[in-house]
Amino acid sequence: MKILLVEDDAALADGLQHSLAEIGFDVTLATTFSFADSALRTQAYDLMILDLGLPDGDGRDLLSQLRQRRSTLPVLILTARDGLNDRIGGLQLGADDYMIKPFELRELEARVQALLRRSLGGHGRTLALGPLRLDSFQHQFHLQEAPLLLPSREHGVLEALMLQAGRVVSKERIAQRLAVGAGELADNAIEVYVHRLRRRLSPAGIRIRTLRGLGYLLELDGDAASRAES
Ligand code: CA
Repeated sequence: MKILLVEDDAALADGLQHSLAEIGFDVTLATTFSFADSALRTQAYDLMILDLGLPDGDGRDLLSQLRQRRSTLPVLILTARDGLNDRIGGLQLGADDYMIKPFELRELEARVQALLRRSLGGHGRTLALGPLRLDSFQHQFHLQEAPLLLPSREHGVLEALMLQAGRVVSKERIAQRLAVGAGELADNAIEVYVHRLRRRLSPAGIRIRTLRGLGYLLELDGDAASRAES
């Protein structure tokens, strides 16, 4: 799920970008009006988080231009301006929600997910890799049409891999997904979870490849991939 984060405050932008990436979003950061404008015209996003005070323009102009192009992209405004007129003005220009700085990160994440749920018509997005499916909002896996119930850490590992299927996911990223500090996980804990997941997934033609020193990669095994192509 792709988010365009428009924010010129470097510390805030950095924190937001990391925490949204940790929960599985693909975040593009725009620190200027002009970068955000060209990103919106050339890329498809699922949601925009928009700061109003930008060094080279006003976020409200970006929003009104977006709506003039009849885009229905969900927009969450972030603003330090807490005047009632600013809030009403932002909503009138077509924002879907707004938050006043400073805010709690968890509340922002919850609002982002609520907006996405609404824009997807109440259904989560389903990610699929061959016979494996993940409903990214219900956090539910299905394997060959049957619910795949996993212990919570195995579930977390598989979710981290599935959100980046076909790409390498580092152990650090997986540990972040499990919401535990690296010190709290035994050295080989992730390897153990991966080993257990392999036993469940390999009969269905899905494998977790180890890339030594880099991390893990979830993919269809060769046979399954060529069957899918034919
Ligand atoms: Ca700003």
